[in-house]
Amino acid sequence: MSLLSGKKALITGASRGIGRSIAIEFAKNGADVAFTDLQYDDKAISLENELRALGVKAKAYVSDASKFDQAEILINAVIEDFGSIDALVNNAGITRDNLLLRMTENDWDMVININLKSVFNYTKAIQKVMLKQRSGSIINISSVVGIEGNAGQSNYSASKAGIIGFSKSVAQELGSRSIRCNAIAPGFIETEMTSVLPPEIKEGWVKDIPLKRVGLPEDVAKLAVFLASDLSTYITGQVISVCGGLHT
Ligand code: NAP
Repeated sequence: MSLLSGKKALITGASRGIGRSIAIEFAKNGADVAFTDLQYDDKAISLENELRALGVKAKAYVSDASKFDQAEILINAVIEDFGSIDALVNNAGITRDNLLLRMTENDWDMVININLKSVFNYTKAIQKVMLKQRSGSIINISSVVGIEGNAGQSNYSASKAGIIGFSKSVAQELGSRSIRCNAIAPGFIETEMTSVLPPEIKEGWVKDIPLKRVGLPEDVAKLAVFLASDLSTYITGQVISVCGGLHT
């Protein structure tokens, strides 16, 4: 399959987890892939090599997604190296879970800045590029808890709900230029982010999931491929859950 042949994509926070899987699925479908992370470490180098072995151009960039000034510098660097960006995946994210009673201001600020402000930073920086191209697909990784909320995750849920409102607004602003913006709402996906959850919480989730299994990063990545591809050119402003039916 080469659904993304000739396309160039930028994925934030991609050296592990869902971002890494999106990078690999994009490359398998023929896209050249630029990706960011906080460090150019072994994980980033191994992803670069894995992507190049799939026959596409790939490059890792160090950039803190929460920093406004770094986003514009990064987009300029990717344009310099790749010539254009057809798809942007705003994936970088963290959790700092706690009940509101115990949540610190720092827990709140970090999650909002890394999960939500980052989406503003990159979308704002890329809009000039996509407006000039008169095309583009922006894919923002939200969460089912941004739709439903979750006790102990008020900061994270707020950031993910913010992404949904932002994505719908951007879809309305940029649709006339053929720039699409959609949000993916993963449910419980097995990555390092969820590996810290106690087993009883995980078992409880699986019991409630109609498909009776946790999600894999590839489950999310396949939807990202569809949203970046020309199969989805009439889809914008949507929030699509990848949750085994947990959120219906
Ligand atoms: P993960 O395994 O913890 O990976 C997160 C990635 O984001 C890492 O590569 C990390 O880099 C990067 N990152 C963190 N802060 C960053 C920053 N300031 N700038 C740039 N990159 C940064 O998480 P994941 O499970 O793959 O999650 C990916 C996205 O899916 C997140 O937005 C998350 O909220 C969302 N999501 C996940 C689930 C789930 O069940 N896993 C469910 C719903 C939504 P380092 O390696 O350098 O730390």
